[in-house]
Amino acid sequence: LVDADGSTRPTIFAEMSALATAHDAVNLGQGFPDEDGPSEVLDAAVEAIRSGANQYPPGRGTPDLRAAISEHRARFGSPALDPETEVLVTAGATEAIAAALLALVPPDGEVVTLSPFYDSYAAIIGLIGARHTTIPLRGADFQPEPADIDAAIGPSTTVVLLNNPHNPTGSVIAPELLERIAARAAAHGAVVVSDEVYEHLVFDGAPFTPIAAVPSARGRALSISSAAKTFRVTGWKIGWITGPAALIEAVVAVKQFLTYVNGAPFQPAVAVGLRLPDAYFTEASLVLQRRRDLLSAGLRDAGFAVSPSRGSYFVVADAAPLGVEDGAAFARELVRDAGVASIPLAAFAPGSSDPAIRSSLRFAFCRRDEAIEESVRRLSAYR
Ligand code: PMP
Ligand code: GLN
Repeated sequence: LVDADGSTRPTIFAEMSALATAHDAVNLGQGFPDEDGPSEVLDAAVEAIRSGANQYPPGRGTPDLRAAISEHRARFGSPALDPETEVLVTAGATEAIAAALLALVPPDGEVVTLSPFYDSYAAIIGLIGARHTTIPLRGADFQPEPADIDAAIGPSTTVVLLNNPHNPTGSVIAPELLERIAARAAAHGAVVVSDEVYEHLVFDGAPFTPIAAVPSARGRALSISSAAKTFRVTGWKIGWITGPAALIEAVVAVKQFLTYVNGAPFQPAVAVGLRLPDAYFTEASLVLQRRRDLLSAGLRDAGFAVSPSRGSYFVVADAAPLGVEDGAAFARELVRDAGVASIPLAAFAPGSSDPAIRSSLRFAFCRRDEAIEESVRRLSAYR
């Protein structure tokens, strides 16, 4: 978090977004949509402010939002939850991740994550002072391999922190590999925490398996999600974490001193979103899937080797066929000279010596068609 000279470092997302602005580039770096979410949800927040939902909400979240989270989980393939004891509303998934790790991991503990990983994971593990072990994702499909799972998760593992669907690679972990991870965690008494913020943004009709539906994870898994991605409201910072009552109680104990409570008028609005009909969730993923296809085809035409994106807001494109070795330098060159911002994949895998990670870039397709088309034009022209 702090460099050797004492200066603090901005996140790679902040850095690339600032560069995009400075160079008037199309920003396919930081993952935020450029379109508002559903009007029912936006209107409900305005209405909540006007009707006085402006003071501290209950510590675990409003009862109605907790009920909506529980109904929504049951509707989409997880076992039913007790909204009183098994659901906690948080300031985005970011706080849920931080509070869960702070609650469960002692300074001499160990957290296992996939690699590449979302940047906040390593930051929180570092703040705790715990050990960070990784399971590399391999192949064009970015899956964990059984031997790597068995090598990483062992007697010293406290928490296995998953992210599925996966940022930055767009992979969706195969159910049998999830089961293997959960079984290995169970054998060693570790808790599985699964960051599922992209749970509804899965493509090609493929099924998504939430950790709560994995047999070996029963009784030892915490599931995290957020309104940010599903309802295109990344600035609202309403997330939630669900799981066994004793684990949630431990997370509550931390959350009460991180933010205490959050987002009073957004909570009833997110409850409206979670109760939208199935068609909303299907349509949201279909729109993104079309944009994924548009961007993937454009990147391929521009000479990148493009990995399949099965979910999330992101696609990974390897610039090695363009003669690139250092993706971080190439990402900066593209912002400046081509007018397109991306994020170097290596930012999500610090210390990795994998040449394919070093030469790859992550592009976000949670943007209007015009923005994607313009960036494809710019990348083709640059080449
Ligand atoms: N986890 C992952 C994998 C993410 O991509 C993001 C970011 N957008 C978050 C957590 C943070 O979510 P929130 O904005 O709800 O804090
Ligand atoms: N989750 C978003 C991404 O991966 C950005 C969040 C942030 O800026 N910290 O692009």
